[in-house]
Amino acid sequence: MTINRRKFLGGAAAIGGANLLGACATSSTESLTPGVAKPFLIGNPSEVLLTKGKTPRIVIAGGGWGGSTAAKYLRKLAPNAEVVLLERNPVFFSCPISNKWLVNMVDTSFLIHDYLATSQKYGYRFIQCEIMDIDRSVRKVVTSLGTIEYDFLIIAPGIRYNYEAWFGNDRTMIEATKSKFPAAYIPNHEHFNLKKALHSFKGGDWVMTLPPPPQRCPPSPYERACMIAWHFKTNKIKAKVTILDHKDDVRPINIGFKRAFKELYKDYIEYVPNAHIKEIDPFNKTIKTAAGDMKFDHAVLMSPHQAGDLVWKAGGIGVNPNTGKATGWAEVDNKMLHLKKDDRVYVIGDAVGLVSPQFLFYPKSGHIANRHGRIVAKYIAERLAGRNPEVSLPDNLCYMMVNGSPKEALNVQFDYKINEKGIIEQTQIDYNDRKASFVAENFKWAGLMYEDMFG
Ligand SMILES: Cc1cc2nc3c(=O)[nH]c(=O)nc-3n(C[C@H](O)[C@H](O)[C@H](O)COP(=O)(O)OP(=O)(O)OC[C@H]3O[C@@H](n4cnc5c(N)ncnc54)[C@H](O)[C@@H]3O)c2cc1C
Repeated sequence: MTINRRKFLGGAAAIGGANLLGACATSSTESLTPGVAKPFLIGNPSEVLLTKGKTPRIVIAGGGWGGSTAAKYLRKLAPNAEVVLLERNPVFFSCPISNKWLVNMVDTSFLIHDYLATSQKYGYRFIQCEIMDIDRSVRKVVTSLGTIEYDFLIIAPGIRYNYEAWFGNDRTMIEATKSKFPAAYIPNHEHFNLKKALHSFKGGDWVMTLPPPPQRCPPSPYERACMIAWHFKTNKIKAKVTILDHKDDVRPINIGFKRAFKELYKDYIEYVPNAHIKEIDPFNKTIKTAAGDMKFDHAVLMSPHQAGDLVWKAGGIGVNPNTGKATGWAEVDNKMLHLKKDDRVYVIGDAVGLVSPQFLFYPKSGHIANRHGRIVAKYIAERLAGRNPEVSLPDNLCYMMVNGSPKEALNVQFDYKINEKGIIEQTQIDYNDRKASFVAENFKWAGLMYEDMFG
């Protein structure tokens, strides 16, 4: 027997049942097979996922470092608002600390965190789904399970890989590159793939292409190169890591990393600056760059980065006034972090575009994304309370491990202030001396961050 779904929902509403998913479904769930009804919980992008009441609703699109922080802080700062976190992954996997995890210095359990338990503990709603579109004209997010309206939206999608810069629209080349030589800069199956490739690598040429700035976590590819080289050295694997850097030199922590390459990994790391990518062939394992060509046995092929797809779907990408081309990053009010064209839509974390003529972009780090999450939660809570939010700026801190025996790391710290001209100014301090104490501080930092998001 086929249940008439409209009647069924009508009955549930009549007896006062609060339906979480699709209580207000408006479209038919008939499947393509005549007479066979699609099960209710399979969902449908054209149905309503959550009915909207009078309570102000804040939807957060993306539950990484920025989005998870924002969800938790919004519950604290705006207790009367409804907070909904939408995320495609079932669990959180941390990119920070993952370079240490690659070489077995830390267990997977340290990196992963439970969305559902956190949302239940703090009282926001977590819905695992794919976000497919954002329609700002009617304040609606379209997900794989249905649509959801918002009063305020926080877009926290992280980055996308801009493979088009290398291959245009050639899907065969893109898919081959992604699957054979993943960048592992977006959580999380790629990380497992990379770890497997590393631990089965018998020797030869291991190449890493570094994207041009702005990119996710600029010092982390150098840390990754050091950890991989340390693994080769410790396990006596005859292999070399070649870093093909788009930049003209190592940045940040230039001296510290270069000393590590020379003093710890003379026979294991080769650093090549100005290696702008001209051509990559994932089938024949060849790379042509402005600094020379090479063949490789395995590679971590990092294409250029851009703001995650959701900023594009929301129409929030900036346009370069000189070229008329997309900047690739969200065009936000540099202090309030909402889209310049829509003050109900905030963008946080890596996706944020230009913020200052002095340093251009905030470092695309988990630390900054966490601070953005807190800041924007405060801004929205203030607005809901009928007040004008005061400007807050983030700080940034990054530890980079360079040696496994003894365990030693480097450090870089950033601070921000608004100068007398109203411009956001950055101060950066590189700590170039390798220290064991930085390793301890790094793990403490990560523990505190996870606690802040999921504790
Ligand atoms: C190897 C490595 C080492 C790093 N080390 C450090 C470090 O030591 N310190 C530091 O501060 N930072 C570090 N970072 C950087 C840090 O991981 C990022 O800056 C941070 O994750 C950015 O947070 P975010 O919230 O902007 O994006 P993310 O954390 O990537 O979150 C985005 C979320 O949005 C979700 N999403 C996107 N699109 C959709 C969609 N359509 N539907 C549903 N969900 C979607 C994604 O699944 C993801 O969970 C490192 C990064 C890497 C790769």
